Amino acid sequence: MPGNPNRHPPTSLSPLQFPPASAPRRRTPLSAEQDSTTAAGQRVDTPTTGTELFGGDRRIVAMRVDGELQDLFREVPAGASVEPVPVDSPDGVNVLRHSTAHVLAQAVQQVNPDAKLGIGPPITDGFYYDFDVETPFTPEDLKALEKAMQKIINEGQTFHRREISDADARTELASEPYKLELIGLKSKAGEAAEGADAEVGEGGLTIYDNVRRDGTVAWGDLCRGPHLPSTKLIGNAFKVMRSAAAYWRGSEKNPQLQRIYGTAWPSKEELKAYLDRLAEAEKRDHRKLGAELDLFSFPEELGSGLPVFHPKGGVIKREMEDYVRRRHIEEGFQYVGTPHISKDGLFHTSGHLPYYAETMFPGMELEGAQYRLKAMNCPMHNLIYSSRGRSYRELPLRFFEFGSVYRYEKSGVVHGLTRVRGMTQDDSHSYVTAEQAPGEIRHLLGFVLSLLRDFGLDDFYLELSTRDTEGDKKDKFIGTDEQWETATAILEQVATESGLELVPDPGGAAFYGPKISVQARDAIGRTWQMSTIQYDFNQPHRFGLEFQASDGSRQEPVMIHSAKFGSIERFLGVLVEHYAGAFPPWLSPVQVLGVPVAEEFAPYLQDVLDTLQEKGIRVELDDSDDRFPKKIRNASKSKVPFVLIAGDEDRTAGAVSFRYRDGSQRNGVPVAEAVEEIQAAIADKRQV
Ligand SMILES: [Zn+2]
Ligand SMILES: [Zn+2]
Repeated sequence: MPGNPNRHPPTSLSPLQFPPASAPRRRTPLSAEQDSTTAAGQRVDTPTTGTELFGGDRRIVAMRVDGELQDLFREVPAGASVEPVPVDSPDGVNVLRHSTAHVLAQAVQQVNPDAKLGIGPPITDGFYYDFDVETPFTPEDLKALEKAMQKIINEGQTFHRREISDADARTELASEPYKLELIGLKSKAGEAAEGADAEVGEGGLTIYDNVRRDGTVAWGDLCRGPHLPSTKLIGNAFKVMRSAAAYWRGSEKNPQLQRIYGTAWPSKEELKAYLDRLAEAEKRDHRKLGAELDLFSFPEELGSGLPVFHPKGGVIKREMEDYVRRRHIEEGFQYVGTPHISKDGLFHTSGHLPYYAETMFPGMELEGAQYRLKAMNCPMHNLIYSSRGRSYRELPLRFFEFGSVYRYEKSGVVHGLTRVRGMTQDDSHSYVTAEQAPGEIRHLLGFVLSLLRDFGLDDFYLELSTRDTEGDKKDKFIGTDEQWETATAILEQVATESGLELVPDPGGAAFYGPKISVQARDAIGRTWQMSTIQYDFNQPHRFGLEFQASDGSRQEPVMIHSAKFGSIERFLGVLVEHYAGAFPPWLSPVQVLGVPVAEEFAPYLQDVLDTLQEKGIRVELDDSDDRFPKKIRNASKSKVPFVLIAGDEDRTAGAVSFRYRDGSQRNGVPVAEAVEEIQAAIADKRQV
C-alpha cells in the first residue's frame, strides 16, 4: 500500500494543498495509543486462517497479523495477534480499491492484450492503474471497460497469492517491461514511483492470480497484496471515472502512460453519495463561478498560475486585506514592506537554496549578480530585524506584510486560485525569547481561529507536522534532536490546550522547524489547509539574529512564522467554493441591487440606493431594458445578498420590498428600516 496520498512535501515552500472530499486519512489523536493494532487484536492459541476466524462476516476483507496487513486466507500461526480489517476502515477501503484496480487491469488486458501494465495503487477516494497503450483511452473505451469489469466482478474470482523468485518473476513477466523495472528496484520501489510499493517492496516477490470458480486462472499481477477474498465483494459500488496521461515514475524523461482513474466504495449508497459530492463540488468550482460572477481570470498571456482580479473580485480581495491588516495591527504586529526580488545570496543564508531551488523561479543575471524572485518573505523580515541592535524590551517583535511570492509549480499541478505560481501571503514573523514562544504560539492560534470564524469557517482540526525521524529524509531537516523535540513539544502543548482535534503529520514539517496547521472543513465537508504557525530555531541562527538580554548578554531569538489566510488568492478561491458564490453581505462585491418594477420607479429606487451608498454600502441599479421577470432572474444569478424592488405601492408608502436569495420576499419595508437591516447584516458579518 502506498503512503498517505495527502502528504505534502516537507517544505515551507509547499503550496497549500487541496485534499479532495472525505479523504480516508488516519485521524488518530496524538494522545491515543499509537500501536492500536495489537491492542485491539485477539491472540490465537492454535494455528488457523483469517477465513476461519472472520470468513462468516462479509464486511471483513483483510486482517492484521501482528500488525501486518494480510489476505484473509493466509495462515495465522499460534501465538499471533489478529485483528479483523472491515471494509469501511481506512485499510479496508484501500484493499477494496486496490483490488478493483486489479479488476480494471484485467479488463484492459482482456480488451487489449498488448497493453503493458504500470502500477495500480489506491488513492484518496479511489484508485488508478497506469497502462502503456498505443492510443489514449476514449470515453467509449472507459464505458466498455466498466462493463468488462462488472463481468469479472460477477464471476466471483478469488485472489491467490504465490511467492516467486526474482528469476522466475523475470521469466513470467518478460512481456511486462515496467514490472521488470520494479523487480530491479524492489525495496526502493516506494521512492522510485509513488504507489509502486503496492507492487513490490521489502522481502520476496509475490504474484496474485485471479482464479475463476472453475479453478482456471483468469489473470495475474505482480503485487504485494493484500486483496479482497473475492471480486464479488466489489459488487456494483465502483465506477471508472476518467483517464489522463501520466509519465512512468512521474518523470518527463520516461515514457508517457495512460492512467485510468476509478473509484470503489463499500456500498452503492456510499458511491452515490460520493458522486453527488463531486457534482456539488463541480457546481461550486471557483474557476467556473469566478468567470460567471466576473471575479477573476487567468489570462494565457500572463502564463500559467498567474491570476488577475477583476473589479468585483477586487472588492472581495480588498475587504479581506483591509480586515487582515486591521486585525494584525490590533494583535500587536507592525506593518512592513519588502521587494519581490533579491540577490540569491539571501536565500543561501536562509537555507532555501540550494535545497529548495526546484520550487523557486530560475535566477536572473543583473550587473554581475544573480537575482531571484522571492519564494518566501522571512529572509527579508530578518534583515529588518538585524537593521539595528535589538533589546529584550522590544520582544515579542512582530512584523507583518502582504508579501507577494513566486513559486514554481509544475503545470500539471497548477489549479485555479488554489495552486498558483504567484501569490500574496498575509505573512508574519514574531521574534521572541525562548520563554515567550509558548505564549506567542497561543496568541497566534487564537488569532487565526477568530479570523477564520469571521470568514464563516468554524469547523476545524489541527495538524502537527514534524520531521522525518529516519534515514536520508531526516537529513533534510536542519537542527539538533533536542531543538526539534523542544519545538514540537511546545506546539503540541498549545494545540492540545486549544481543545481541537489534533492529527499527527510526521515528515510534513518545513526543513527549519515543526508547524501547526489549521485544517478547515467547508460547507460540503471538504478539508482545506488554511493557516500555519511554524516554530523556527534555524533562521535566527543562520542570520546571526540577536538581542540584548536583561543581564546584558547577547542572545538568539526564536522566530515564529505565521500565515493566517495562507495566501489571499487561495483563501479567496476557498471562500468562493465554501459560499458557492453567495457571499455574506460584508464580502459581497455588490451588496444591494435595485430592481424597479417598471422604468418609472427607477428614479425613486435610485434615491434609496443613494442613501445606502452614502453609508458606504456597495449598490447597483438594474436600469437595463430587460423586462422585470428577466431582471429578477439576473438578480438571482448574480447572488447579490439584498435585492430591493420598488413599484407603485412602495413609492407611495416611502418603502421598498426585499427579495432574498432563497426567493422569499418581504414587501413594503419603510426605507429607514431597510437601511438599518442591511447595515446591521454587514456590520455583524452575518450571512443572509
Ligand atoms: Zn494488488
Ligand atoms: Zn516565514
